Amino acid sequence: MARINKNYDKLAAGYLFPEIARRTNAFLEENSGAQVLRLGIGDTTEPIVPAVLDGLHAGVDALGKADSYSGYGPSEGITPLREGLADLYAERGLSLDPSEFFVSDGAKSDSANIQSIFSDDCVVAVQDPAYPVYVDSNVIFGRTGQATDSGYEGLVYMPCTEENGFFPDLPDRKVDLIYICSPNNPTGAVATKEQLKGFVDYANQHKAIIFYDSAYASFITDPSLPRSIYEVEGAETCAIEFNSFSKTAGFTGVRLAWTIVPRACRTEDSESGKLHALWTRRQNTFFNGAANIVQAGGVAALSPEGRSQTDAQVAFYLENARIINEGLQSLGITTYGGGNAPYVWLKTPGGLSSWDFFDKLLNECRVVGTPGSGFGPAGEGFFRLSAFGHRENVEKAVSSIIEKLQI
Ligand SMILES: *Cc1c(COP(=O)(O)O)cnc(C)c1O
Repeated sequence: MARINKNYDKLAAGYLFPEIARRTNAFLEENSGAQVLRLGIGDTTEPIVPAVLDGLHAGVDALGKADSYSGYGPSEGITPLREGLADLYAERGLSLDPSEFFVSDGAKSDSANIQSIFSDDCVVAVQDPAYPVYVDSNVIFGRTGQATDSGYEGLVYMPCTEENGFFPDLPDRKVDLIYICSPNNPTGAVATKEQLKGFVDYANQHKAIIFYDSAYASFITDPSLPRSIYEVEGAETCAIEFNSFSKTAGFTGVRLAWTIVPRACRTEDSESGKLHALWTRRQNTFFNGAANIVQAGGVAALSPEGRSQTDAQVAFYLENARIINEGLQSLGITTYGGGNAPYVWLKTPGGLSSWDFFDKLLNECRVVGTPGSGFGPAGEGFFRLSAFGHRENVEKAVSSIIEKLQI
């Protein structure tokens, strides 16, 4: 008799983005002819830059000739790409071996799949608010109890608030797996080396593992802020890092990412090399590698030309963030983030709930954003605006907020 994975039934109903779509569609039905300006979902909007496009084309062309055709590749990724990634980290003074890089089709899937190499009874800590996949995938893997008003039982929430600068205090009990995202989605906050050092020391002391999601590392403009957790002394023994070409190179639809599992990284019950071996085994068993065409695009994105063109695109999104920040601040709204991240995190005016502000912004300004409470209990009273968008749309949305928002 087949039975279902009952953990799925624990997932809180009304997933954030479907609910946003539902309310937006209801508004459009009631206001026929109205147009909404979307600063909601974190998806890139600008076309792929020429140097990367050339790499993708070359990847396609190689498949059309007998002498350059390739079928299945190594599930960990092609060597030139792994070497290019190691060189990227070497620029920050880090000596990671190319074999410690695992190329994949997404940081989202890796940040969920990584759990398969850890024991079921590990206690998991997440930043609150957080990117939803960390929480939901742990629910599905059975590492939590039921959902309550204050979150899932058994999950340790680490509140990120105005008071702590949106970087959590250390857990007040022993936890085993810790998710940290920096630059943060949704708050736009970037962890300093000192802040990360606290967690690295905690993890090494308690033999915990940090899952460090740095998908927005390329948005960091302040040279004193770390782009990788391995810039913090001691991180190689306790941290696994995820990154992606999605936001940097406009690959959200193309799909290409990487995960770093250093050989030195280990748990309470394993020696150096074991986690690296387990992740290799997991990927070899479940995954046949990212598309070869796409990996050719990734190599091109790491070339000097690719880098300068994608850097310019990142700068373009950061300018959008600046425009959003400036507009909101001109209304006296308190905002965070945006300087080193493509997200602006605003405090809802008048103490409105996140969803009440969503409705207000939609009805008064026709702008769609993302309620902070959808990312976790501590996001209540906050709201996320995304800097991904065509300049014209971002400017229209900001003007509409300045002209029409009644506060
Ligand atoms: C967009 C995003 C990613 C990227 O995931 P991919 O699966 O590589 O597209 C990862 N983490 C966070 C926090 C994100 O916002």
